[in-house]
Amino acid sequence: MKLSKFNFIVTSVLGVAILSYLVAAFRIRGEAGGMHKSILPMYWADRVAGRDLFDPVEQVWYKGNRQVNEVALTIDDGPHPLSCASLLKTLKEKKVIATFFVVGKQVDGNPDLVRMMVQDGHEIGNHTYDHIRLDGIAREKVYDQISFCDKAVARAAGRNMVLFRPPGMRYNDNVLNVAGQLSKIMVHWTIGAKDFVGTTPDYELTPELKKLPPITPDLIVGYVTKQLKPGAIILLHDNPITAEAMPRIIDEVRKRGYEFRSCKDMLRNLPNPVYITPNQPCGYGLQDPTSSTH
Ligand SMILES: [Zn+2]
Repeated sequence: MKLSKFNFIVTSVLGVAILSYLVAAFRIRGEAGGMHKSILPMYWADRVAGRDLFDPVEQVWYKGNRQVNEVALTIDDGPHPLSCASLLKTLKEKKVIATFFVVGKQVDGNPDLVRMMVQDGHEIGNHTYDHIRLDGIAREKVYDQISFCDKAVARAAGRNMVLFRPPGMRYNDNVLNVAGQLSKIMVHWTIGAKDFVGTTPDYELTPELKKLPPITPDLIVGYVTKQLKPGAIILLHDNPITAEAMPRIIDEVRKRGYEFRSCKDMLRNLPNPVYITPNQPCGYGLQDPTSSTH
């Protein structure tokens, strides 16, 4: 009798533990590493400490607060002369603040569009000067890629940048090191919409991506809405097909109860808040009388 009571307690405790584990594993199924990482004690230690959202040592931001119905809209690879103005118009009409991860050479070619981003209150982040993968190049080249992009935005709009996203999210210790030296916060994404397929050169695409059907506004809206979760960071690209899809993306996201927030505000809403000033005037650029002779 005593033994069977003991058995009952052990079975119940084990049952509750297994059930809690399965529920937790199911809830993180869509995340990078997915259900596999749920068996790692380090994952749970990080999660309890909030380091799975933001790593304060490496200054890497992975995602927003899971308890808040908010998302960040990040738009990479611009400013693009065929789509940026249209994106800015939609964002203004819909009152959405986005974060543009700009490419330095695009900035040099279209400085007026960067000034419009600043005027409209958007955030600007660093996406290197030439949009090259940083994990395969020397440390000095990584430094040049990030700092040349900084200088291009300073020349165009007289602002500095805190947020940084390496092309293809490819980075190693060198990249983390240089990003730290330049006081950057590295920003991941949690929702990709494959909206670069068709506008990105084939050599940058994996064999799986090359097999996908041609991208359409409908597909982009579908990819985004299917992956929505509280605290998501949405990755889209500055290209004409995304500009066409943008009004519906915004409407559909809002219809599902999410608010758009800037990266700055999402960071401030983390369980361990992070405070940044993403684009301070840097006393260089428009107001600088020597800027025309750079
Ligand atoms: Zn990119």
